[in-house]
This record gives sequence, C-alpha cells and structure tokens, in this order.
Amino acid sequence: MTLLDARQLVVKKIDELKNRVKKLDKKPSLVIIRVGEDFASGKYVANKIKRCEEVGIESKIIHLDENVTQDTVQKTILDLNNDDNVTGVLLQLPIPKHLDEDYLTNLIKDEKDVDGFTIENMGKLSLGLDGNVACTPRGIITLLKEFNIDIEGQDVLIINRSNIVGKPLSQLFLKENATVTIAHSKTKNLKEKIKLSDIVVTAVGKANFLGVDDFSDNTTIIDVSINFNEFGKMCGDVSKEDYDALANDKNCNLTPVPNGVGQMTVIELIEQTIEIQEKKEGK
Ligand code: NAP
Repeated sequence: MTLLDARQLVVKKIDELKNRVKKLDKKPSLVIIRVGEDFASGKYVANKIKRCEEVGIESKIIHLDENVTQDTVQKTILDLNNDDNVTGVLLQLPIPKHLDEDYLTNLIKDEKDVDGFTIENMGKLSLGLDGNVACTPRGIITLLKEFNIDIEGQDVLIINRSNIVGKPLSQLFLKENATVTIAHSKTKNLKEKIKLSDIVVTAVGKANFLGVDDFSDNTTIIDVSINFNEFGKMCGDVSKEDYDALANDKNCNLTPVPNGVGQMTVIELIEQTIEIQEKKEGK
C-alpha cells in the first residue's frame, strides 16, 4: 500500500506557487471573513493565512462578532467585491445560524469566489465550463494524480452528497472519465457498493465508520473527514487501528488523517487565488 501522505506534495507545491507569484505584476490578495468563535474554524483560518505567507501572497482576516447582522456581513462582502485590491474572498463556514449561509456565500463575486461555492461556479462545473472549483474536490484529484493512481474507467464511490464535497467531486471524477456512484445516509447496501469500488471517498464525518473488513484488496481510500476521537485526537472515518491491516493484508492506498486531504484543501485554495490573478493579468 501507499500511504497517500500530502506533506511532500505540499512542500513541492509551495515552491511552485512561490515562483508563479514572482511572475505576477501584482501580488494576489486573499480575504477571509470569519464570523464568531467556532474553534475549528479558527484553526482552519490560521492555517490558510500561514500558507498564504509561505507562498508570498497577501492575506487578511475580517473577524466579525458572533451576533453580527446579516446586513453587516452582506455589506462586508459587497465592499470586498468592489475592491480592486482584493483577488479572492472566502466566507469561512460554518457561520452562526441566524445568518443565511447560502445567500451570503452566493453574494461573493463569481471571479473572486475562491471556494467555488457560488451558484454560477457550481453550475459551470456541472456544465464542464471554466470556473472556480471547490478546493477539497480539487485537492483530491491532484493527490490521486500525484500518486499516479488511475482514475479513467475506475469505479468510484463517494459517500457524501454535500455541496462542498460530494457533488463537486462527482463532477471532477466524471471529467476524468471515472464511473461515479454517490452514496448517502439513505443508500441501500452500502457495504456491497464499497466492496465493488476501485476508489472509495468517504466524507461521512463519523470516527471508525469504516474498517479493514469493509474494503476489497487494492482499493484506494480517500478519507476526507475531520473527526475527533474520544481522546480528542483528529481522525477520519477509517479506523486508525486498521491502517496497518489495510496496508499489509489488503494492499490498499489510503489518505491519512491528519496530513491527507486537509493539507490539499488549503494548498488548492492558495493556487486558485493565484490562478484568478494570473487570469486577470492574461498569464
Ligand atoms: P455533511 O454535509 O454532514 O455530509 C455528510 C454526508 O455523509 C451526507 O451526505 C450524509 O448523508 C452522509 N452520511 C451520513 N451518515 C451516513 C451513513 N450512515 N451512510 C452513508 N452516508 C452517510 O458534511 P460535509 O460538510 O460534507 O463534511 C463531511 C466531512 O468532511 C466532515 O468530517 C468534515 O469535517 C470533512 N471535511 C473535510 C475537509 C477537508 O479539507 N479535509 C473539507 C470539507 C469537509 P445525507 O446527505 O443523507 O445526510
């Protein structure tokens, strides 16, 4: 088995992106809007800012109060849309329940929507047109290609149908000529479907949801989930205790949690911000 550890790829990507930034007339600038005090969000935002610094692009956090009004968030987004010095805008999710997440996300100008979540960008992806693409799905395809894992013609099962993971990812796999099945909480015979798949992407969000007995030999397993076990340690859906058995008995490939998909999400976000600036400059 290969452990699909993203860390080396990230180091390589940072170098590559640094060079691309140097060739630009203007440094790209990413603005992250964070609302409230969600602990995990705080960590994700800090990580994104750190990567921006490493690559040499400008970044800024606008941290709004937990009780901020919808109007204030709306005005913040519209101001950023109109600011020529801002390349990319991101509304860090989740946001407090009194705010309309879908409405606010879709207010971001399509060209500046570095997360690829607006209706226009999601629509373009479905139609196979050029646009910004959700970063986690992008990162999964990049990782598979980096490790030379065949996608074309493979049977891919995605256990997730969310707008940020399953739906955009299914489009990217189709573009790569895979045969895609999407599973969710109402899917029948999930275990049989897992056994029949060449690539299984799991983003259920439940620690120990899957183990060694669930997979056939030689399966590539992409574990997207970020869960915390009973000891507060980060883990995915696949039981960590089974990593060795998956490697030694079943010859599976597996993305570890941490240091797998999560690392890729951040680097793709930075790359997409740079791409937006490159397009602006016709490069
Ligand atoms: P979500 O919207 O809650 O999606 C979970 C999906 O799992 C849903 O489609 C749900 O089905 C399905 N599901 C739940 N129980 C199931 C079961 N017993 N059998 C089959 N399917 C089941 O969550 P999300 O926002 O997509 O995130 C999913 C996970 O990925 C979370 O752990 C999140 O932290 C992680 N994540 C990681 C990254 C990263 O960068 N690594 C990025 C995004 C998300 P229904 O649709 O029927 O409810």
